[in-house]
Amino acid sequence: MPLKTPMEYVDSLRNMKIRAYIGGELVENVVDDPSVAPHINTVAKTYELAHMPEHADIMTTTSHLTGERIHRYTHIFQSSDDLIKKIQMLRLLGQATGTCFQRCVGLDALNAMYAVSYEVDQDKGTDYHERFKKYLAYVQREDLMLAGAMTDPKGHRAKKPSQQEDPDQFVRVVEQRPDGVVIRGAKLHNTGGINSHEILVLPGTGLVPGEEQYAIACAVPADAEGVVFIFGRQSNDSRKLEGGCDIGNTRFGVVGGEAMVVFDDVFVPTERVFLNGEIEHCAQLVNYFATWHRANYGGCKGGNADVLIGATAKMTRILCTDRNSIVKDKLFEMIHRTETTFASAIGSSALGYQLPCGSFMTDPILANTVKQNITRNVYEIGRLSHDLAGGFLATMPDSKAFDNPEISGWVRKYHTANPEYDVMERIRVGRYIENMTSVTTMVEAMHGAGSPQAQRIAMLGQADIEGKIRMADEVIYGTNDVPGLALPDVNSTAASDERPRKKLDD
Ligand SMILES: Cc1cc2nc3c(=O)[nH]c(=O)nc-3n(C[C@H](O)[C@H](O)[C@H](O)COP(=O)(O)OP(=O)(O)OC[C@H]3O[C@@H](n4cnc5c(N)ncnc54)[C@H](O)[C@@H]3O)c2cc1C
Repeated sequence: MPLKTPMEYVDSLRNMKIRAYIGGELVENVVDDPSVAPHINTVAKTYELAHMPEHADIMTTTSHLTGERIHRYTHIFQSSDDLIKKIQMLRLLGQATGTCFQRCVGLDALNAMYAVSYEVDQDKGTDYHERFKKYLAYVQREDLMLAGAMTDPKGHRAKKPSQQEDPDQFVRVVEQRPDGVVIRGAKLHNTGGINSHEILVLPGTGLVPGEEQYAIACAVPADAEGVVFIFGRQSNDSRKLEGGCDIGNTRFGVVGGEAMVVFDDVFVPTERVFLNGEIEHCAQLVNYFATWHRANYGGCKGGNADVLIGATAKMTRILCTDRNSIVKDKLFEMIHRTETTFASAIGSSALGYQLPCGSFMTDPILANTVKQNITRNVYEIGRLSHDLAGGFLATMPDSKAFDNPEISGWVRKYHTANPEYDVMERIRVGRYIENMTSVTTMVEAMHGAGSPQAQRIAMLGQADIEGKIRMADEVIYGTNDVPGLALPDVNSTAASDERPRKKLDD
């Protein structure tokens, strides 16, 4: 059965030669680096839960290509039920790790590429879809961890790729060869790439004629010649190197261990190229990816919020505020916001529809609504957690204060609240809340899967304003009513309008 164990995942990474710079230094092997270890441990959970019989239905499924049992993270959505189970899987993993588990970008990129390669073939008579299916079968068989790389540096934000002063601000093909292409550029904010097997590179924007070199989608092994990762910094990341109780989310990462990925003239063989110059299909590729991805946040951030609500509720017990009705109401507010976004994610999945290639797309306007709400709810949930946990989140002493006998007595004495809880428990829970409501976490909720503005533009386009105006007109001016009822005659006064009346069934 093609399901890797957590150890097999780690060993397979160790056997790769991923070129990564962390803290400005080239590291020998990402697996042995303490900055990456929590992120690897987080992904390992996705592999571990797939082997647990109680989670098998959520974490695994049957490949539509081979009929084999595969990880849901390598699956092409075959039904609305698949979309729902994906959201349930994300909530489960969010609960298990309290953070981002990194494999969703690759999953949605796989699905977007599957759908668009089919549509390009229909349009242009190319053979991308069959090529992509072979690659997909390989990913499923090996149960690979994939990063999805769409976001280009973008340079001057008001200019298209072809108008940039520096043409490398968007990943592009710099050489077409008989056996493949050479790509150059970078993708930013890349979640999990540094501990992935493969990077699925997709265009990050719609393109116009003259921009064919930017219309490139391909799969690149994370250790391919010319691929370089430059690891990002996160709030309080150096605490992970110190050990002790100040770390926060001690065993798992904070968001997805993002990195800049540089493609320094990387050769990609033809069998790994899935779009090459077909500008007309890039906007749809971005759109498909973004729609699936935006719905995800109701699942993963729901799971993360469950852990945060748990930590906050525990803090209220430690502070002995838990019986206060105002405190309970604030916890209710956190729950309400969490379940609202989860419900929209499930709803958008339940209303999924079939694409031309046969796979299933989530309902677009609901998916965008999920993500738009996330850009607010995660902040509001964090705000309530800060409110309930108290100012010590920002002022508590470091762990070394507990080790120094000259002061540790005072630190313990003056941080003790409910005597049933050891003071160290208050510190550990407080550090978790501090860590998981940090700038890094909040910004992920804001910008991951696209800035709030991107959802607003999409929703305005999808909302069918003209259709809504027609609905309003029909309700206000319509006359298609049951005959004989004592309804008021709106035409009886001089103030009535002069619009021509239309029957509903005209
Ligand atoms: C934690 C995290 C993980 C991520 N993971 C991935 C990943 O794995 N793969 C991936 O491909 N991407 C990833 N992203 C990238 C994410 O999709 C982008 O951050 C998002 O699309 C916004 O792009 P940007 O950060 O480049 O914003 P910028 O382009 O710098 O924009 C900043 C602000 O300016 C506004 N703005 C920019 N241009 C315009 C315009 N023309 N008109 C109006 N407003 C404008 C935006 O709305 C935004 O609010 C991740 C981001 C984060 C924070």
